[in-house]
Amino acid sequence: MFGGIEAGGTEFVCAVGTNPQNIVVSDPMSTTTPAETFQKVIAFFRQHPPVKKIGIGSFGPVDIHRDSPTFGYITTTPKPGWANTDFAGVISRELGVAVEFDTDVNTAALGEHKWGAAVGLDDFLYLTIGTGVGGGVMVNGRLVHGLIHPELGHILLPRDPLKDPFEGNCPFHKDCLEGLTTGPALQKRWKVSPKTLPIDHPAWELEAEYIAIALVSFACTLSPKRIILGGGVMRQIQLFPMIRRRFQELLNGYLQHPAILRDVDHYIVPPALGDHAGVLGAIALAQQ
Ligand code: ZN
Repeated sequence: MFGGIEAGGTEFVCAVGTNPQNIVVSDPMSTTTPAETFQKVIAFFRQHPPVKKIGIGSFGPVDIHRDSPTFGYITTTPKPGWANTDFAGVISRELGVAVEFDTDVNTAALGEHKWGAAVGLDDFLYLTIGTGVGGGVMVNGRLVHGLIHPELGHILLPRDPLKDPFEGNCPFHKDCLEGLTTGPALQKRWKVSPKTLPIDHPAWELEAEYIAIALVSFACTLSPKRIILGGGVMRQIQLFPMIRRRFQELLNGYLQHPAILRDVDHYIVPPALGDHAGVLGAIALAQQ
């Protein structure tokens, strides 16, 4: 048996198991203080049979470099109380078990690669658009870590202030991808909960425009064989056809591949693992 921890800024989910058909998942645990949250996680694993290894997919930024003195830490997060928090070390010591540690989005990507929408694809990306925007990237069958880890949500986008006077709400860049497209950004721009916006509201056309621009950049730089779009905002499934159409229009035939020209419905897709994607990814990370 393996353990998995999906560590989100709002809630944590833990699981023990081996695959989507053989897994016991905890109730969501709200993310309060690190000490309190870790106690709940530790209690869950103590109630279940010992696991061989635990995989952790965490909100971040995180230090995922094994040779670093702060490996396994959540680093510069603006989330109160969580900056510079040892996460992997605490879990490993308290439970006496080895841990693997990566970003929440890399971990979700790994789950989709093993059991979901990217089975058999060694080059793809997983982008989540919810309360934040994050991306996990696989190239040549390996998750990309690089200098820190990819931060696909913070690429800068062209914004026409006449069409969109909202300046963006990223505390670092204002109108980066995250600053323009998250649930909180939609709420600020349109002054209502995005869940209450009708599907033909202009909000969605603008949203699809920004996401399509970002995907053009990612397709041109990373050459993914598929792009998976998850997260709360992408539950607005009317966005998928709008994004696909604008993606093709903006590329204007430049990337000459049937996957993009003729089969874009299978190129830009929702995740296949549903609500358990994160924690299943964490199990997959532990099994690596
Ligand atoms: Zn930003």
